[in-house]
Amino acid sequence: MSPASKRVGPSKAEKKRGPRAVVTVKASQKIFTDSEVATLTGICVDHLRNFAKSRHLGFIARAAEAAGIQADQWLFTLSDLMVLVTLFPRCTH
Ligand SMILES: [Zn+2]
Repeated sequence: MSPASKRVGPSKAEKKRGPRAVVTVKASQKIFTDSEVATLTGICVDHLRNFAKSRHLGFIARAAEAAGIQADQWLFTLSDLMVLVTLFPRCTH
């Protein structure tokens, strides 16, 4: 054991994108699927769903209401997306 060589804190996980996360979406798009949000935010779907549950963001699509979208598809509004981007860093795992 070498007590003098201890590394603490993040290093390679640091991002160079600046303090504010920015995502670009189509102006006409108002609803985003979990996979779309994952792609836009860099947050994986698993974490995304956990965040959504804990923060009461997003909603589960009902099959009848969302034609073309799978049942139990987690959906997010644009404001949900902005909250996620603001609150949560990209996944680095
Ligand atoms: Zn993750």
